Amino acid sequence: MTASSTTDSAAKTPPLPHREMFIGGRWQPAASGNTYTSTNPADGGVVADIAAGAAVDVDAAVQAAQQAFDAGGWVQMGGAARGRILMDVADRIAADAERISALETLEVGKLYRDGLFGDIPACVDTFRYYAGYADKLYGSTVALPDYAGRHRLNYTLREPLGVIGAITPWNNPIVVAGWKIAPALAAGNTIVVKPPEDAALSLLRLAEILQEAGVPDGVFNVVPGIGEEAGAALAQHPGLAKLSFTGSPEVGAMMSNHAGGQFRKVTLELGGKNPQIVFADADVDAAMPFIAVGNFLHQGQVCAAGTRVYVHESLVDEVVERLAEHARGIVLGDPFDESVSMGPVINDTALNRIVGYLDSGREEGATLVTGGNRADRGGYFVEPTVFVGRQQQKIAREEIFGPVATVMPFATPDEAFALANDTHFGLNAIVYTESLNLAQRAARELRVGNVWINGFGIPDMTTPWGGRAGSGLGRELGPAGIESYTEEKTVQMLF
Ligand code: NAD
Repeated sequence: MTASSTTDSAAKTPPLPHREMFIGGRWQPAASGNTYTSTNPADGGVVADIAAGAAVDVDAAVQAAQQAFDAGGWVQMGGAARGRILMDVADRIAADAERISALETLEVGKLYRDGLFGDIPACVDTFRYYAGYADKLYGSTVALPDYAGRHRLNYTLREPLGVIGAITPWNNPIVVAGWKIAPALAAGNTIVVKPPEDAALSLLRLAEILQEAGVPDGVFNVVPGIGEEAGAALAQHPGLAKLSFTGSPEVGAMMSNHAGGQFRKVTLELGGKNPQIVFADADVDAAMPFIAVGNFLHQGQVCAAGTRVYVHESLVDEVVERLAEHARGIVLGDPFDESVSMGPVINDTALNRIVGYLDSGREEGATLVTGGNRADRGGYFVEPTVFVGRQQQKIAREEIFGPVATVMPFATPDEAFALANDTHFGLNAIVYTESLNLAQRAARELRVGNVWINGFGIPDMTTPWGGRAGSGLGRELGPAGIESYTEEKTVQMLF
């Protein structure tokens, strides 16, 4: 179940004793001089000492972003020129993939190879996609009937909004931040990012890359700090034209209030408790790897994780056994080690929360098939766990954000849809069936933002990603993901 490290993780990246915040093109300490410590969840060691921003720093960053926006240079250079710079940013991220991936592994415990071959290429693709979009943000033109004896023309302009505030999560730090930064900048906005306290280093590195690529001073700003201080200050700042938040539903609910009171735009990407439905006719051999990855990818710390596994009663024993077998084969250990298949969870708070869910599963009468405990090793490791449970149990209702699958049987497709929709979340759903009709029915019946058929997918930069109900508001990625950083202004001319 465990493996010792065969890789010297320290050798992958030079020591990072201290990092400052990036405001108006300058690196600077917090006005208070305060810092906080970022740690490695695999062993509890200190990774970096990072400037801890507060309201005064956030205010300085928003002012710098406003000045850069008002100066007009970023907008006036035009979409093609912005696109060239963002394309260069993408190339530089790609060239620095090993270092960025190492930073995220050190701070987050993400498998190094998952970052190198998954997160970083996805971030590069997002920057390239929106770089290409920067000169394709058209308005529309409509010829209208004559009015008051004159010809009439209606057309729309797509304009940037102004200063964007972005608050981002630790689980996929640079990817999720890229979903906001790339379209916001491509559309001509300026931005202030509050990165997650547990994982600020890759975004601070991104600030260097953006500057090296020629993004003007003040267009991109990063204020690291604690959520309740720097995050709250950014969320409440009156200078934002839009707030884009990705994180937990609890904090997301507060974002909505701050933003709503100030009549600004808001996008919320929140959590999920997503169903995976294995219908009676599913190709179980083909489905099993996806069912497993949907539960255990990145220690289950993925908003899209499919941890409610509804299985047709005829297949339930087989799926439970095969999922448990997969879980038992997972090797916990140093996320830099290529023989390891699962790293630690993010911190001791998360570990205790997950262990609390494991206890509640047992207490509420779920059948524990495998796992169920904190792993017996240093760092914040949890055993990959499979329960057979019931719909009303907490483990089946709440987002655990850990490697915990709950399998539940169903008898008919209608019952499966009803169980899957019985949640306040609505991010994504995964269905396994060989029937075209059933797949299409599922795509219509499931009240989610995204349906994946016969595979646990990944969000793609070309198409919108987002949730309904408790999973969020608005969409990121695809055309919708950049249009949400613009205002469409209608102009009517009589001539
Ligand atoms: P979190 O809500 O704890 O933190 C998210 C960000 O908000 C961090 O930068 C944090 O510092 C900041 N923050 C915390 N308290 C704040 C406050 N009072 N005011 C302002 N900002 C504050 O979430 P997390 O633990 O970093 O991320 C995990 C959550 O994110 C999960 O629920 C996961 O499902 C969700 N998530 C969703 C998506 C998606 O696309 N829908 C993607 C990734 C993660």
